[in-house]
Amino acid sequence: MKIAIAGAGAMGGRFGTMLATTDNQVMFIDPWADHVRAINDRGLQVHVGNAVTPHWIPAALPQDVHGSFDLIILFTKAMGIAPMLESLRSIITRTTHVMVLANGIGNIEQVEKFVPGRQIIAGVTVWSSELDGPGEITLTGAGNVTLQPLAGQSDDFFQAVLTAFHQAGLNPIASDDVLAAIWKKAALNCVLNTYTALLDCNVGEFGRLPNHETLIDGVLNEFAVVAHHEHIAFDLDAARQLILAQFAPGGNSAHYPSMYQDLAKGRPTEIDFLNGFIAAKGAASNIPTPVNRLLTQLIHGKEVLSKQSVRIPA
Ligand code: NAD
Repeated sequence: MKIAIAGAGAMGGRFGTMLATTDNQVMFIDPWADHVRAINDRGLQVHVGNAVTPHWIPAALPQDVHGSFDLIILFTKAMGIAPMLESLRSIITRTTHVMVLANGIGNIEQVEKFVPGRQIIAGVTVWSSELDGPGEITLTGAGNVTLQPLAGQSDDFFQAVLTAFHQAGLNPIASDDVLAAIWKKAALNCVLNTYTALLDCNVGEFGRLPNHETLIDGVLNEFAVVAHHEHIAFDLDAARQLILAQFAPGGNSAHYPSMYQDLAKGRPTEIDFLNGFIAAKGAASNIPTPVNRLLTQLIHGKEVLSKQSVRIPA
């Protein structure tokens, strides 16, 4: 299978190097020129603990990619999906499958504007990774990836994808309700990403705040009403338990979620695909979502302020 990883940052780099250990052909596509150059010059430098290994996988800017692929795995941030697909229009054929694994809600709808539903595989992953700089990633933890063809029916191509992911050690799980899995992870991100970014703390510090349960419920209660309105099988109690489990010592308590890291680097966040999505859906359906609306506006304020502070030379 010819596989392109479109968006070869922390997660794209991780999935690409793992898939390249199988007999499938892998290529990185990324719009960050310094990153592409570094990968081609030195290999993607993959840090695991104290070890660093170069992975020689070809990389190209989107405008320089030709030919066709059996599978394009989209691993941009949610707001990078449409620009990436726009730049890849000429290589998406009637037999190209596109897999979307970015966090957040509404990503599938973005992909459907470019690719017919029968060619889309939707998913969500709890693997993790960090992008240290151009051509450098650090692998953290282990995980799995939940997948479902958007058309609902598993076919030979989907089975081949599951086999490739299994051989790569990515621990694929074939789901019959991937939307429920996507919304469940988004609920966790709406709480932990947003509050840790606003309160300037890690997951464990947030969990030790005396009022953390009130803050969690403020987001989740609105989230659940919107999910119900959208006919998503959202289990409020299960989502709440998943979040509370992150505060256990060890586990994820020392983690600074990606929204925190994006703000630290002066980069835009995925807030419009998390709390912002809930607020927008609520507004469109007359469902009150004041907590999610306010949190979205606060993060947008922080995006402006952190971009300014990153510009100040040290
Ligand atoms: P990332 O920021 O590492 O990479 C995304 C894109 O941003 C890449 O195209 C990369 O080249 C570009 N980019 C990054 N830094 C840049 C810079 N300084 N200048 C120019 N371009 C730059 O994103 P990611 O962490 O791989 O996340 C991809 C998706 O996966 C997101 O939706 C994220 O929420 C989700 N996700 C991430 C993790 C994780 O542990 N990182 C875990 C699960 C899901």
